[in-house]
Amino acid sequence: MPGFEVFGEEEKREVLDVFATGVLFRYEFGAQRGDVWKVRQFEEAFARYTGAGHAQAVTSGTAALKVALAALGVGPGDEVITQGFTFVATWEAIFDVGAVPVFTEVDETLNMDPADLEKKITEKTAAIIPVHMLGAQARIREIKAIADRHNIPVLEDTAQAAGGRLEGRHLGTFGACGTFSFDSVKTMTTGEGGMIITDDRELWRTMSEYHDHGHDHVANPGGRGGEGRRFIGFNYRMMELQGAIGLAQLAKLDDMIAAQKANKNMLKEAAAAIPGATFRTILDEEGDSATFMAFMLPDRERAVRVNQILREHGAGAINFGENTWHYYPKWEHLLEGKTPCRNGWPFQAGGRKQVVYDPDALPRSAEIMTRTLVYQIPVKLSDQARATMLAALEKAAAS
Ligand SMILES: *Cc1c(COP(=O)(O)O)cnc(C)c1O
Repeated sequence: MPGFEVFGEEEKREVLDVFATGVLFRYEFGAQRGDVWKVRQFEEAFARYTGAGHAQAVTSGTAALKVALAALGVGPGDEVITQGFTFVATWEAIFDVGAVPVFTEVDETLNMDPADLEKKITEKTAAIIPVHMLGAQARIREIKAIADRHNIPVLEDTAQAAGGRLEGRHLGTFGACGTFSFDSVKTMTTGEGGMIITDDRELWRTMSEYHDHGHDHVANPGGRGGEGRRFIGFNYRMMELQGAIGLAQLAKLDDMIAAQKANKNMLKEAAAAIPGATFRTILDEEGDSATFMAFMLPDRERAVRVNQILREHGAGAINFGENTWHYYPKWEHLLEGKTPCRNGWPFQAGGRKQVVYDPDALPRSAEIMTRTLVYQIPVKLSDQARATMLAALEKAAAS
């Protein structure tokens, strides 16, 4: 899973290029920096790699979601639909632009259920955020078709699926834009960092200005600070050191995915021997980034029992049905409307509750998530770790 497993001389060399100039800022300093523009090069390389027209680097995957939503014009009074199995960042970003998150069920892809999406669209829906969770494809073509029929933009949260594809096309390029995270545990990492890709030049331009206080990076007639401003912005700028690491990591991404695929296939074969085990629906195995392997048992009791055996033999799996960071009924701060803001925003507005969440609102997701077990797939699997996992899966198969 994490790109930190393959940190090496390549990352060091890229970072040293930056220190040689002393310029950590991604813009300006023309004379001092010579030809070193790491963040800009990283954006160009990432756009080229994914086949997108434009890429905008930012400080994190969460910031990428927020900048994308802001650029899509989403704000107070709007609803944004996402899925009840995702990282908290997806809906934090929705709240942060002033909108209200609405959650759909997941199906056995462990991603957004298009039929439930259709039911949750209202006249307030301003964007739809399917998440390509655990490295593999959401039903993005169906979701996009539904969204198009309602004229609603799709933002793909691709934080967990860099390098993932569907029928040869990169995830993140199906919707109006796609966001990525390069935090410390993601498939490719810059420590902290994020990226947004889009084919829409105007949307990119808005993101570029918004993420840097409104500075214009295209026309810029008066130089930095001398230009006019089209709107208010914020600061989500990536720094040169992150751009440098990103260049080295991106160059290794396809090899990391290939290594993960080999490890995943081996574990999958062993897990298939567990009585009653089935696998998560993967729409396109070839395009799976193989950062995770998810398998299902017939019911919750059986999943608990199997995981107990795996745990006893040193290879416990993740049950996201119990996970407090990725699963809707476990987000108690969301369900209870907890906020540091004294007037209750974003759960209350104008002294009135504007949103209430019911922990039992997603029964189909609960049915699936509580009987699903997940392994993170490492890039490098030591002989010992491999032997431990295979032996544990064998014990589970014999149970
Ligand atoms: C990691 C993650 C994010 C947030 O990325 P950060 O870089 O950690 O802010 C958003 N969405 C999903 C699905 C993630 O897994």
